[in-house]
Amino acid sequence: MRTPWSPQRAAPVSDSCAMVPERFTEDLAHSILLIHRSCPTDQCARRKAAVFFLYEQRMTALPRRRRAR
Ligand SMILES: [Zn+2]
Repeated sequence: MRTPWSPQRAAPVSDSCAMVPERFTEDLAHSILLIHRSCPTDQCARRKAAVFFLYEQRMTALPRRRRAR
């Protein structure tokens, strides 16, 4: 079932694998990983985006690892 993103409902959780939210939060990313945990990462754009987001979050959350160039 393909319904376009309806702007009136901000229902973040139960979306299909192909749908990637425009704005991520850490909570959203975690819930996506939970829901899509059985999805192969290379076949689930939603999971992939969440993994990438959390990865970036972690990188910026660790000041020691950040190298200013
Ligand atoms: Zn999925």
